Amino acid sequence: MNLILMGLPGAGKGTQAEKINERYNIPHISTGDMFRLAIKEGTELGQKAKAYMDQGELVPDDVTIGIVKERLQKDDCKDGFLLDGFPRTIAQAEGLESLLSDMKKSIDYVLHVSVPEENLIERLTGRRICPECGTTYHVIYNPPEQEGLCDKDGSKLIQREDDQAETVKNRLKVNMEQAKPLLDYYEAKGYLVGINGDQDINQVFSDIQAAIEKR
Ligand SMILES: [Zn+2]
Repeated sequence: MNLILMGLPGAGKGTQAEKINERYNIPHISTGDMFRLAIKEGTELGQKAKAYMDQGELVPDDVTIGIVKERLQKDDCKDGFLLDGFPRTIAQAEGLESLLSDMKKSIDYVLHVSVPEENLIERLTGRRICPECGTTYHVIYNPPEQEGLCDKDGSKLIQREDDQAETVKNRLKVNMEQAKPLLDYYEAKGYLVGINGDQDINQVFSDIQAAIEKR
């Protein structure tokens, strides 16, 4: 089963990816992991990607697609894969399509886990971290015993700049604008499956199972 997982930050993609990996035994391939592996293995494309990253530049699509291709050719992908964070653009989606067709494969489903924006903001801005020991909390989902203080050492918890409302809203906006054309692209191809991510984690997963096992 060849899957792509889409969803905004905070939608719970990571958790669902883990569950899909356990249940269907297909590797969860995130863009970051893929780059790290290619760089660690020192492949030609990995070295190229590293050169761009070291310069703080975006890795060009042909290099990224090449790295995806190398990853999808590995043994663990023979029964399928779950891509997460790739493709990000239409050009990458087209690149993926053509490399899969070279491999006599195709995408089965694009799972789009969606959560209303205001709930994402709540999820993402509620995070607090202990500056002493690094433990993370969430004001709603995982609060410390005493409000604002670390359970382990009593330090005053802080909110990272990344988790502040304005930054979060902006990040979501950028992500939404980027995802929109891709969602339309996959919708038009008939691959897109909408999943309600605004429910209990296990319910989200059972909806995913129902959708992909329906065929
Ligand atoms: Zn602490």
